[in-house]
Amino acid sequence: MPFNNYDVCVIGGGASGLMAAAAAAESGLKTALIEKNTSMGRKLLVTGGGRCNVTNILEPQEFLRRCRPYDRFLRHSIYSFPPRALMEFLTQRGVETKVLESNCVFLSGERAYELLEALLEENRRSGTSMVYGRRVEAVEKSDEHFSLICGKDTYTCRKLIIAAGGASWPQTGSTGDGYALAASLGHRIAEPRACLVPLEVKENWVSRLAGVSLPAVSISCRQTKKHPVTGGLVFTDTGIGGPAVLNFSREILPLLEQSPVEAFIDLMPDLNIEELGERFAASITANPKSNFYSLMREYVPRSLGNVIADLAGINPRTQAAVLPKAQRRRTVSLLKSLELTITGTRPLKIATVTRGGAANDQIDPKTMESKLCPGLYLCGEVIDIDGPCGGFNLQIAFSTGRLAGMSAAL
Ligand SMILES: Cc1cc2nc3c(=O)[nH]c(=O)nc-3n(C[C@H](O)[C@H](O)[C@H](O)COP(=O)(O)OP(=O)(O)OC[C@H]3O[C@@H](n4cnc5c(N)ncnc54)[C@H](O)[C@@H]3O)c2cc1C
Repeated sequence: MPFNNYDVCVIGGGASGLMAAAAAAESGLKTALIEKNTSMGRKLLVTGGGRCNVTNILEPQEFLRRCRPYDRFLRHSIYSFPPRALMEFLTQRGVETKVLESNCVFLSGERAYELLEALLEENRRSGTSMVYGRRVEAVEKSDEHFSLICGKDTYTCRKLIIAAGGASWPQTGSTGDGYALAASLGHRIAEPRACLVPLEVKENWVSRLAGVSLPAVSISCRQTKKHPVTGGLVFTDTGIGGPAVLNFSREILPLLEQSPVEAFIDLMPDLNIEELGERFAASITANPKSNFYSLMREYVPRSLGNVIADLAGINPRTQAAVLPKAQRRRTVSLLKSLELTITGTRPLKIATVTRGGAANDQIDPKTMESKLCPGLYLCGEVIDIDGPCGGFNLQIAFSTGRLAGMSAAL
């Protein structure tokens, strides 16, 4: 079937595949973008709760530092197509962006589908053949070309880009197929694990707090004490979630593989322990007749105040003025360092990204070409790379996708 014969085929119409296909087709190559869903970019549409945190305005050096331990691998792709270049790319295509708190860049209209529409239009304009509802089941390589088996259809190409994503949120299409396809061409696959994901804890008392959210805490463990993660936290039935926890999950994944991790939540990160001690003493002086329970409401939500009373061995009805010194100290210490034992992560299917995938040491970071299989390129989450929350992962998908598409066209 000659019409199924292409210069470049891209497997997967997500963020990285849409960008890769557009870059390849723009160079004049006959390019097909093959997506198993009946529409492209399903995951793109759920990013940032549909508002799409498209990138992070940090300069490349700091951007890369935040993406450790993948900074060396990502260096070339991020410098080649940094956050500001992505924003310009979008502006030129009529998609305005705005920088919010923490350097996160969102779409001005807060509608992820505007970004998807711009990427689809870019592909239409560049002449990409967009193939919907075709799952690539297997790939075969002969000397001259790749053959992609999609049920009854076979597509052939000289250059192949695997952009099939990770294995989180499988309902969007990323079910881990990319791993099997890359492995069939010789690639080693680092075990896929949940990353940027809520955490499970040992302490049963968290279930009493399910749904309670704290807008600004900082979390650390012994190994990350010098660099605590700050942000919002929400208690769940079995543990903790929220932006700070998702980023913390990324930091502690290697530790969790060894054993449970003792984490410390600083509920009052803006005050050091002396300042908090003074403030607590001042609260007692100002409200000597208040009970402990009312006193705590100045600091934490009611239900958390009760948990702190239990942990400190305090009857919450105790009058502030008669609180023994040791219990005052214990209260301040709990507010500054509430201890939790992290036993694991929630499942991969609900994680924001997948840690693991096609081993990055088998891919040339300057081109995204496989070091094992000439003519094969990989980009996006299918590779063992990830970044923190805040627009990093989409930028990684776009930068690696564009580099793969441009390199395939050389
Ligand atoms: C809920 C949620 C919110 C997020 N929000 C943000 C955010 O705001 N900012 C941010 O930076 N990151 C965010 N992320 C992460 C980000 O969306 C991903 O890292 C990024 O989309 C990965 O892009 P990708 O192209 O590598 O993979 P995907 O977007 O997963 O695309 C892979 C595509 O390949 C297709 N495919 C798979 N197998 C086959 C096959 N065999 N044949 C054909 N097609 C196939 C899939 O159907 C899919 O469309 C979020 C993730 C989730 C789950």
